[in-house]
Order: sequence, then structure tokens, then C-alpha cells
Amino acid sequence: MQQIAVIGAGTMGNGIAHVFAQHNYKVNLIDVSAPALEKALGVIQKNLDRQVAKGSINETVKTETLQNITTYTSLADGVKHAGLIVEAATENINLKLKIFAELDQHAPADAILATNTSSISITRIAAATKRPEKVIGMHFMNPVPVMKLVEIINGYATDAEVTKTIVSLSEKLEKVPCVVNDYPGFIANRILMPMINEAICSLYEGVAGVQEIDTVMKLGMAHPMGPLQLADFIGLDVCLSILQVLHDGFGNPKYAPCPLLVNMVTAGYLGVKSGEGFYKYTAGSKDLVVSSRFK
Ligand code: NAD
Repeated sequence: MQQIAVIGAGTMGNGIAHVFAQHNYKVNLIDVSAPALEKALGVIQKNLDRQVAKGSINETVKTETLQNITTYTSLADGVKHAGLIVEAATENINLKLKIFAELDQHAPADAILATNTSSISITRIAAATKRPEKVIGMHFMNPVPVMKLVEIINGYATDAEVTKTIVSLSEKLEKVPCVVNDYPGFIANRILMPMINEAICSLYEGVAGVQEIDTVMKLGMAHPMGPLQLADFIGLDVCLSILQVLHDGFGNPKYAPCPLLVNMVTAGYLGVKSGEGFYKYTAGSKDLVVSSRFK
């Protein structure tokens, strides 16, 4: 399988395209937005420059990586010769169902259709196609060029050969694959999101402040980032939507999103991407400053 198509050129899509291209795959990067494609190529170039500066790759690898990427705004053109399609478009169930129905029409009959969704059921996405046995979750972590894990999610109908192919492909990308089954939140978010929600509830109930909660988890549990800072990094809207998937999927009140999280998202305080969440972010500053709302 030498040709890969990546759908969606946002945060995850550009990283996924980067990693495949760096490992000698021809990558068709597809997005409905031409500016998003242009921006993605800029981000990939900047990240490759950083790798060159660190000495992890040389200039030749950088040039070849960029040459391996072609951009498309047409899904039909971008996927027609691909052996694997990795969908990394916006996290929206109706959008993903539509994309997979289109992929079913335009991708080669033997192509594997993977999704990078954080929380939508693989089985449900697969049911939008006439080849559910070829559909699988390939959940990369952010930032993709840095993070080693690929959580591979078997849908109810996924063929064992497809899983084997994706495991071996992930290893070729120098990643560590972990195969899990398709239940709400898979493993990564089923465990991470309740922890983040509990941290937010601890703040909401006044058990401790932002800095105290994050410091306890960083120094006490050797987490590289506290849960509130991590929530800001992931995006509070994303955290809320994953908690809603867990809550709806299991029908268990233990997954109910903390009212403080709901309020912050409603008010547009989404973390790093909006400039403020539990911390306040100023462009160019690396200092971690607690939001004045929590002082
Ligand atoms: P993003 O908003 O940064 O990028 C999404 C891109 O999809 C945008 O460029 C948008 O123009 C494009 N898009 C929308 N509709 C499209 C269509 N019909 N065809 C082609 N492109 C389309 O989103 P993201 O953070 O990169 O997330 C992408 C996927 O990865 C989501 O399913 C998300 O749950 C998952 N994910 C995100 C993270 C994370 O930390 N951001 C981590 C793991 C998984």
C-alpha cells in the first residue's frame, strides 16, 4: 500500500499526512477548504524544520516528505487510487456518515477506510458503507509526529485481516499500536475524560484551586501536564462532547459533564484555542497563568 489519502487538513490531518509522507508513502491530503490545505502545508514545513534543527531528520528527508504530499479539494479525485483512507475531518457524526458514504462510492473496492474519530462509534460509521468489514478506527494522538500511540479500534464487523494490516502499518510509522474494541470513548477517552471531569468538579466544589489540582497530578502521579491544563490543550468543547458521548452511550450518571465545564463551553471559554480556559493564554508567552476567574 503506497498511496494514502487523508481527509481533513486540520490539527490532526496535517500531522497524519506528515507522518505517512515522512515514511515514504505518497499522501493525498484532502480538505473542502483550500486555505486549510495551504495552512496545513505551512504547519508541516515548520514541524519538519524543527525536526531538522533537532537533528532527528536531515534536509533530504524534509524535501522528500514535502514532495510526497499532494493536496486536493475533491474527495473523489483524492481517494480514487488510495489503498488506505484516514478520515480526520471535523468531529461531527452527520459529516462523517456523509464522508463514508462518499468514500464507499469513490475509493477502490479493496481500500481500507479508517477514521481518526475521538469518540464516534466505528460500528455506526461503518454502517454508512457497504463494506463495514473494511472500516476501522485509527486514533492518532496530538501532536501526531511526536506521540507514539495509535489506538486501533475494531468495529463490530471489522475483518481481522484489516486490523492486522493497520497494526503493521502503524509499526512502519514507528508508532505503538494498541487494539481495542468499539465501545463509547474506546480506552483513551473512557479513562482520560472522567479524570478531567473529576478535576473540573473538584475545582467547581472548591476542594482546591487550578494550580493545586494540576500540581497534585503532575508531581504526585508523574503526569507531564495537569488535567486542567490538558483539558485547555484538548479544547473544553471537545472534552464536553466526548463526555456527552460517554454519558449517552453508557447511560451512567458518573459520566455527566460537570456544570462548570458546560458553563465555560457555553460562554466560549474553550482553552488554548479561544485564549482562555482554566488558564489565560497570550500569544508568544510560554508562562502558565491561571485565569483571573479562578483566583
Ligand atoms: P480540525 O477542526 O482542526 O480540522 C478538521 C478539518 O476538516 C478542517 O480543516 C475542515 O476544513 C475539514 N473538513 C470539514 N469537512 C470536511 C469534508 N467534508 N471533507 C474534507 N475535509 C473536511 O479538527 P481536528 O482537531 O484535526 O480533528 C479531526 C478529527 O480527529 C476529529 O474526528 C477529532 O475527534 C479527531 N481527533 C482530534 C484530536 C485533537 O487533539 N485535536 C485528537 C485525536 C483525534
